[in-house]
Amino acid sequence: PGPQLPFDESKKTLVILGSGWGATSLLKAIDTTDYNVLVISPKNYFLFTPLLPSVAAGTLNSRSIIQSTRYITRHKPRSVTVIEAEAKEVDPFNKTVTFEDTSPIKGSIASTTIPYDYLVMAVGAEVQTFGIPGVQEHSCFMKELADAERMQKQFLDCLESAAFPGQSPEEVERLLHMVVVGGGPTGVELSGEIHDFLEDDLKSWYPELANKIKITLVEALPSVLPTFSEQLIDYTESTFKESKIEILTKTMVKEVKEKSVVVQMPDKSIAELPCGMVVWAGGNKLRKVTHDLMLKLPEYQNDRRGIVVDDYLRMKGADGIYAIGDCSATSYAPTAQVASQEGAYLARMLVQMAKKENLETRATELAAELANATTEEERKRLSEQLDIAQKQMAKVKLRPFHYSHQGSLAYIGSEKAVADLPFMNGNIASGGVATYLFWRSAYLSTLFSLRNRTLVATDWLKVKIFGRDVARE
Ligand code: FAD
Ligand code: NAD
Repeated sequence: PGPQLPFDESKKTLVILGSGWGATSLLKAIDTTDYNVLVISPKNYFLFTPLLPSVAAGTLNSRSIIQSTRYITRHKPRSVTVIEAEAKEVDPFNKTVTFEDTSPIKGSIASTTIPYDYLVMAVGAEVQTFGIPGVQEHSCFMKELADAERMQKQFLDCLESAAFPGQSPEEVERLLHMVVVGGGPTGVELSGEIHDFLEDDLKSWYPELANKIKITLVEALPSVLPTFSEQLIDYTESTFKESKIEILTKTMVKEVKEKSVVVQMPDKSIAELPCGMVVWAGGNKLRKVTHDLMLKLPEYQNDRRGIVVDDYLRMKGADGIYAIGDCSATSYAPTAQVASQEGAYLARMLVQMAKKENLETRATELAAELANATTEEERKRLSEQLDIAQKQMAKVKLRPFHYSHQGSLAYIGSEKAVADLPFMNGNIASGGVATYLFWRSAYLSTLFSLRNRTLVATDWLKVKIFGRDVARE
């Protein structure tokens, strides 16, 4: 029973868990000739996370920023098996992975275990709530496509409820207060996008309410965008001030209630902020499957940030497991940029490894044939071939992973973006049409397919002409 795999016993089985940045970049770059490749992910698509806040604000259609995983795998030299399922358990000793169909419709088999030779952990991370009461129940996240869609609906619901006749001024004020928790790039970009929605469209669609909409960004640390340079932080904070986005720094959310957020202010006093909607962008935490796997190798896996890997992205203490992206603990930030470079690196590594193994097999066969050779001519021919194979083997070098930082870019609304760039010694903080176009072209060029680029560009054009859609589905 189980899925029909493109199984060839002479080839090693490579199982990739996930279909996000790391996994997709690996899949795009890998030559599948030498492997039985399986991809297992509960989402059968790749999600372009940088544009998720744009979906939440209704600038982009949700389908424009996803790409079916089969779209990427279908042109591979050997077919790749794509399985929509969630990995539940990895057994690093018996080298097996157990996965389950967790979608609403299931066949008679919904869970199975398969062996692997190589396993790539690319399952990303989930949202960190720190166990703060009410976060899970009363806030929207900004991690998955469904989160962005939910936020958009809830935002419009708040507006419609505020427009309901007879609402008291306090209730209108509460319903129109949007609180974003987390001043990292996700929280900042989202606040900027909501502000654009307000300025560009809501002022004309809801003229009586628009000037009462309030956005508050709450951050526990002394500043927003803590990983950006000071100049860019100042620029972001002053832009937000002009945009009337209130920033509360050194302020820690202690509880999220149905209609308010409880915060600890910088002076340690407790305040309750009435609000219509809370968006939680409090950072990452490990997924259960990652955590459980690490617990099986406690001697080597003791970093709370994720799977500890060596310079070749091999999971320490395990045989044949690699970890890339947000589920791994490296010296790099958990970003798409890092995950995609790691995926592409691993694709090259796996090809090199297969090449080396094929040459080793060939050399062993030649050595055996040489030992049994009966004529001088045969011995000469075989030893020449063995020599070539050994020389080729020596040329196959497995080099450690090297990350090349291309810079960090964040859109902060009002056609402004901030960029920390490693070249030109540059921090660029600028606004206006040029920045806006730069931001947009940077994202367009990183989108994986022509299909996505076309859809995103068309959405931008549609919004420019007709504005964002305020019809609530
Ligand atoms: P992901 O891309 O999250 O992929 C994980 C995959 O694993 C998903 O396909 C998921 O469905 C799958 N999965 C989950 N559980 C399982 C399981 N049990 N079994 C199998 N598969 C599983 N970074 C940047 O560099 N630039 C940006 O502009 C940027 N913007 C962002 C905006 C937002 C709103 C967010 C949330 C993040 C942003 N990031 C950005 C960060 C970036 O998205 C992550 O660092 C990146 O997604 C990590 O890639 P990954 O492959 O490790 O994980
Ligand atoms: P993050 O970890 O960068 O930021 C989360 C923020 O939430 C932190 O600053 C933290 O202090 C704050 N926080 C947590 N709990 C809080 C509480 N109870 N009260 C108040 N504040 C609280 O998370 P993120 O913004 O989702 O980013 C995750 C990763 O994705 C990062 O590596 C980031 O660089 C990357 N990313 C990059 C971009 C970009 O480059 N444009 C955009 C989005 C995300």
